[in-house]
Amino acid sequence: MKGGGIGKMSFQDLKGKTVIITGSTKGIGLETAKLFKSLGSNVVINSRNKGDVENTVKVLNKSIEYGEAFGVAGDVSEYNDCQKIVEQSMEKFGKIDVLVNNAGISLIADSVELRPQDYEKVLRINLFGSFYMAQLVAKNMIKNKIKGSIINVSSILGLVGLPKRAAYVSSKFALIGLTKVLATEWAPFGIRVNAVAPGYIRTPMDVKDTGTGEYTTEDIEGRTPMGRYGESYEVAYTIAFIASDLSSYVTGAVIPIDGGWVAYGGWDKLLKQIKSKAKP
Ligand code: NAP
Repeated sequence: MKGGGIGKMSFQDLKGKTVIITGSTKGIGLETAKLFKSLGSNVVINSRNKGDVENTVKVLNKSIEYGEAFGVAGDVSEYNDCQKIVEQSMEKFGKIDVLVNNAGISLIADSVELRPQDYEKVLRINLFGSFYMAQLVAKNMIKNKIKGSIINVSSILGLVGLPKRAAYVSSKFALIGLTKVLATEWAPFGIRVNAVAPGYIRTPMDVKDTGTGEYTTEDIEGRTPMGRYGESYEVAYTIAFIASDLSSYVTGAVIPIDGGWVAYGGWDKLLKQIKSKAKP
């Protein structure tokens, strides 16, 4: 990249950038907002719950001295709400440099019983919402000649299937397809579009899902080559890398952040054998 080079770039370039993070009152989104703000970015906090948004903005502005947090409540599955998020971000900060399409919901349900309205709801939030936001933000970036970065938060379940996750898996596979289309279409404008594919991360979503009794912490630790859950900050750092000029030639990529989950295609006993060899 012109003007770049080893030793000349770091996360410093994120200072002063405007970063919209959908679904940022909890979990991965909240941790990502904290990281960007601590790097000096101005962050737009969003979720469907106005009180949570206001509270998150207050806490971030009080606890992290760099950048500024600003909130816009809204449901990303509603096009009008997405317009509002983009318009109010522009009014407040005057430009948009980075979009993190993080808002998402999970659903565990037997595919034979899965109600059409529940299938649609997951697709509307996880997929349609990401498209609405990406389209509105890219239009804005193109108009204002901003060479921005859009990061879609997919999942390992956008790369492999899992029973009882028809809606979630459909939405996350589709989000990766969408990422590749938008990356190629908007590359000439200098807008990069990438996806991250987190594995199992301890967040309120995971706590709710384990609460269904469908899987346990031991199941996840056992199936993960690194033998542990991921932390939200580990996802946040990868997102910041894709947002920054450090990844200036990366577009259309899908980066797993999963402790080796999708790399592993073997059986339980084999993984146990491999892990036992590393024990002291
Ligand atoms: P989480 O703890 O449930 O947090 C989700 C956030 O999104 C909350 O702030 C939530 O607030 C907001 N949200 C949900 N629906 C929304 C909507 N329609 N419009 C705007 N905001 C909305 O989830 P998480 O685990 O941090 O997950 C974040 C993203 O990572 C999701 O896309 C998820 O699919 C993906 N992911 C998570 C894991 C994991 O193990 N945790 C693994 C792979 C991928 P409100 O509900 O108040 O609106």
